[in-house]
Amino acid sequence: MRTQVAIIGAGPAGLLLGQLLHRNGIDTIILERQTADYVLGRVRAGVIEQVTIDLLDRAGVGARMRAEGLVHDGVQICVNGVRHRISFKDLTGKAVMVYGQTEITRDLMEGRAAAGAPTIYSAHDVALHDISGRKPRVSYSLDGQSHELECDFIAGCDGFHGVSRTMVPTHALTAHERIYPFGWLGILSDTPPVSEELIYVRHEQGFALCSMRSPTRSRYYIQCGLDEDIAAWPDDRFWEALRPRLDDEARNRLVTGPSIEKSIAPLRSFVAEPMRFGRLFLAGDAAHIVPPTGAKGLNLAASDVAYLSQALIDHYAEKSDAGLDAYSDRALARVWKAERFSWWMTMTLHRISENSFEQKLQLAELDYLFRSQAAATVFAENYVGLPY
Ligand SMILES: Cc1cc2nc3c(=O)[nH]c(=O)nc-3n(C[C@H](O)[C@H](O)[C@H](O)COP(=O)(O)OP(=O)(O)OC[C@H]3O[C@@H](n4cnc5c(N)ncnc54)[C@H](O)[C@@H]3O)c2cc1C
Repeated sequence: MRTQVAIIGAGPAGLLLGQLLHRNGIDTIILERQTADYVLGRVRAGVIEQVTIDLLDRAGVGARMRAEGLVHDGVQICVNGVRHRISFKDLTGKAVMVYGQTEITRDLMEGRAAAGAPTIYSAHDVALHDISGRKPRVSYSLDGQSHELECDFIAGCDGFHGVSRTMVPTHALTAHERIYPFGWLGILSDTPPVSEELIYVRHEQGFALCSMRSPTRSRYYIQCGLDEDIAAWPDDRFWEALRPRLDDEARNRLVTGPSIEKSIAPLRSFVAEPMRFGRLFLAGDAAHIVPPTGAKGLNLAASDVAYLSQALIDHYAEKSDAGLDAYSDRALARVWKAERFSWWMTMTLHRISENSFEQKLQLAELDYLFRSQAAATVFAENYVGLPY
């Protein structure tokens, strides 16, 4: 088999790249380890930046998002029971949209199927060959049979635990990492959200986030230890841990109900650089991870794909490799700013230590954010997403 661009992974990065390339006449084959149903069942991101919205439109898959997504002009931050609002619209003229990653994935999968572009699900033992040469190849097995795919380029879009990054010789890759000593315990429930906007909560008992997927479906998170056992968290215990962290209004509006999904996510900051090795280009979580505070992961995957798709389009249409040569530097410049913002939000809103000096500094950061228009503008600019 042969294709122009072999894409490893059918998450948002791989599917979006495939869609943008296909619309520009470039052949791709996506190899995905899981089944399509498994990929669709993963509940993850929910907040997308204006630039990601525009990119999904460009990929021709924005119609349902425009119809069903919830536009948010601002965000709320609650500090020890007192709520403050930051208006994106007033400070930047922009907004974000709440539209679940599962919905984006479904739209992209349907777009790809309608275009007749191939995705091979349940592809096992994926391995990359000759990535530093002119004729890279990808081998994999399907239903017990071995296959090989020849290509011009490989896009490693296979997430943090994927195989692509591990194929780069260790001397050619530098990893920067911070692991946080806490995680997020999250539940999804078919109950109305406590607020029309997201509420980030900084509380003595720990961080919480009140988020949503629709006017009837809520997503809540609370800070938890890394060693928590999900089985020890029946729904009632979750609601009882969330309730005291909220302000009076949110507490009164909180409607509890059975969870339809419950999971624990560890928090990590990670960047591997450069994001290119020979004919292999890393994009999305394969190259970098942010803690979910600030909602940047999916959005960064999208901005990588914006740079990479344009570079590949220029390669085939203009015979120019300038975009491919600049890809890693351009993507990393944006990645590091999102890493900084996600790290700052994580360190400011979580209970990070018992040290009263550090706690006072957190409160001073937040007080400054609420009182200074300059500080609020910096926050809003980063939250809605920096331009490409
Ligand atoms: C709890 C939680 C909340 C989040 N909230 C937000 C948010 O609000 N906003 C936001 O922007 N981001 C958020 N994120 C982050 C976001 O979900 C990720 O950044 C995003 O999924 C990255 O997309 P990706 O395509 O790069 O990687 P992935 O979504 O991880 O996709 C990679 C794909 O590659 C496949 N794969 C892996 N290994 C192989 C292999 N060897 N061979 C073939 N296929 C392989 C995987 O099965 C997967 O389908 C959140 C994440 C979590 C966990």
